[in-house]
Amino acid sequence: MNRTILVSGGGVAGLALAQRLSAGGDAVTVVERAPGPRAGGYKVDVRGAALRVLDRMGLLEEARTLRTEVRAGTVVDARGRRAASMDGDTFGGRVHDDVELLRGDLHRLLRESAAGAEHVHGDSIATLEDTGDGVEVGFASGRTGRYDLVVGADGLRSATRNLAFGPDERYLVDLGYYVAVATVPNRLGLDREEVTYVGPGRTALMYAIAREEGARAMFLWSSGPLGEQGLDRAGRERLLAEAYAGEGWEVPAMLADVPDSPDLLFDPLSQVRMDRWSTGRVVLLGDAAHCASPASGQGTSMALVGAYVLAAALAAHDDHAAALADYERIMRPFVAANQALGPANVKRMVVGTKGQVRASLAMLRVLDRLPGKERMLAAMTAPIHKAANAVELPELVH
Ligand SMILES: Cc1cc2nc3c(=O)[nH]c(=O)nc-3n(C[C@H](O)[C@H](O)[C@H](O)COP(=O)(O)OP(=O)(O)OC[C@H]3O[C@@H](n4cnc5c(N)ncnc54)[C@H](O)[C@@H]3O)c2cc1C
Repeated sequence: MNRTILVSGGGVAGLALAQRLSAGGDAVTVVERAPGPRAGGYKVDVRGAALRVLDRMGLLEEARTLRTEVRAGTVVDARGRRAASMDGDTFGGRVHDDVELLRGDLHRLLRESAAGAEHVHGDSIATLEDTGDGVEVGFASGRTGRYDLVVGADGLRSATRNLAFGPDERYLVDLGYYVAVATVPNRLGLDREEVTYVGPGRTALMYAIAREEGARAMFLWSSGPLGEQGLDRAGRERLLAEAYAGEGWEVPAMLADVPDSPDLLFDPLSQVRMDRWSTGRVVLLGDAAHCASPASGQGTSMALVGAYVLAAALAAHDDHAAALADYERIMRPFVAANQALGPANVKRMVVGTKGQVRASLAMLRVLDRLPGKERMLAAMTAPIHKAANAVELPELVH
């Protein structure tokens, strides 16, 4: 529609939006803080309405070729004894068509499809001034620009949100857990499978996916604030080692591998809750607007759906205010349903006390021997699929 649009953040949400808008004739600039496209990362699921979005974007078939192909999941106790095993889809809460892939692979796919946009790396919005008929933007690099619309798709700690809506403290809700993920050697010799260890207040898991030699170690534990924001990587590694001190299974070896990992994600599990996602000509998208936390398993799907809905609304209305109102009206119930999954799921994933760990492993051992266990476990993930489909997508505009 020939608008000039700045998208802050070249993640899933920003790239998907850039593809949709540039296909519709808008002049889109994506400014991404990272110095270049990022490969790898952890695995994410795309489900429900988000699959229809990928399909309408013409990317679903290629996304399927990038599947992790994780085919089995096992839960073990402190001595590594198997409590239960199940197929990979049941373990990951997926149904037939859902696609699990590496975040980096999805980024690459979206980035290639958004070639019609201008992509600037290694820069970031520093100032924003909405003048009513446009937004004046100053970048950290010293560059300036003027746009019809600015979209903050810059993640949990969105700089756009900070500039246009106020500081993180107003919108971030701490769920009381931390997550850490690192690429590590495949010590367990896993072949497209994942193994989860359940300890009191802490879960550790390792998975290996198709087409990769290494493995990912993931840690999810209950904790009050650790003050990690001011710490460097070594400081975060120390906090992780302290949180898992004395744990069994392969945890000590996994921790020992973390310092050599090329990457370490370390974050409190938080949600973003806001009453409004837009102000004037600035609008938020994806995690920046409504992070549901990794425990929801739905952040990527929400980012894709949000990008599609926002692009459709902007294509349908000349008036940006009407478009942003439409976007919010369509997305609100979907976001509420999916955000509710985060706190509920994490309580199932992290079990509180030693006694509760024993009880839940005993229950899993019984379940493991029951015929039709996969069906029973799949029924437990029904709320995820209900939430994943809780939106009516607008018609495809281009
Ligand atoms: C361990 C883990 C597991 C997860 N598992 C799943 C899962 O199974 N299923 C699922 O659906 N989701 C999952 N998620 C969540 C999912 O990754 C996010 O919800 C999703 O990536 C949100 O996309 P986004 O584009 O809004 O934000 P992001 O992916 O965070 O992208 C934001 C982008 O903005 C950039 N950026 C940040 N600040 C600035 C700035 N100031 N200027 C410019 N650019 C900036 C960042 O570098 C990044 O590229 C998981 C997350 C984690 C951490």
